[in-house]
Amino acid sequence: MPEQIYVCPLGSVDEAILDGVAQRLSESTKMTVSILPPMGDPSYAYDRKRGQYNSKKILKRLGACCPRGTFKIMGVTVVDLYVPILTFVFGAAQMSGRCAVISTRRLDPLFYQETKDRLLVLERVKKTALHELGHGMGLVHCRDRRCVMFSSTRIEDTDFKRSEFCYTCRELFRWQLEKAQYLAKTKV
Ligand SMILES: [Zn+2]
Ligand SMILES: [Zn+2]
Repeated sequence: MPEQIYVCPLGSVDEAILDGVAQRLSESTKMTVSILPPMGDPSYAYDRKRGQYNSKKILKRLGACCPRGTFKIMGVTVVDLYVPILTFVFGAAQMSGRCAVISTRRLDPLFYQETKDRLLVLERVKKTALHELGHGMGLVHCRDRRCVMFSSTRIEDTDFKRSEFCYTCRELFRWQLEKAQYLAKTKV
C-alpha cells in the first residue's frame, strides 16, 4: 500500500469544501487523496478565554490518530484557529511533518459581513490548503506576494496571491516530494 494523503473533516464540514481540498492536494502531488469520516469537533483544543481553538493541539491529535501509512493528513474545520503568539491563523502545519489543519471560518466572506460567495470560499480554501501542504513539505514563507507560500496575515493577502507556487517554491516542492516518494519506495 503506497503512502496516502488524507483529508479529515473535524466536525461538520461542507462536502464541496472537502472535495476542493482533496482535489487541490491531489493536483499538486499527483497522489491519491482520500476523505476520512469526520473526527468530531476539536473541543479538546478549545480555549475558553479566547473563544478559539488551539491549532497546535489539533495537529498533535491528528498525528496521534491518523491511519497507518499516512503521508500527509489535513484537518478541515469551521472553527476559528489560533496559535498563542497570533490573534488567529487561517491554517497551521507541522514543518516537514505529516499534519496540517485549515479553518474555513475567516475564509468565508460572511465572516466579514460580506455577501455569500461559495466560489470565493473554495478558492481561498484551496490556497490555504496548498500553503499548509507546502509547509508540510518543508517550504518556508516566500517573499513573492503572488506565491501561495506568501504568509497571509489578512484575507486580502490570500485574495492577492495565486493558487500556485512561484517558480522557486514549485521546484523546491517537487524536489521534496520526489525525495519523500523515493524514500517511501525504498523503505523496507
Ligand atoms: Zn504559512
Ligand atoms: Zn514562492
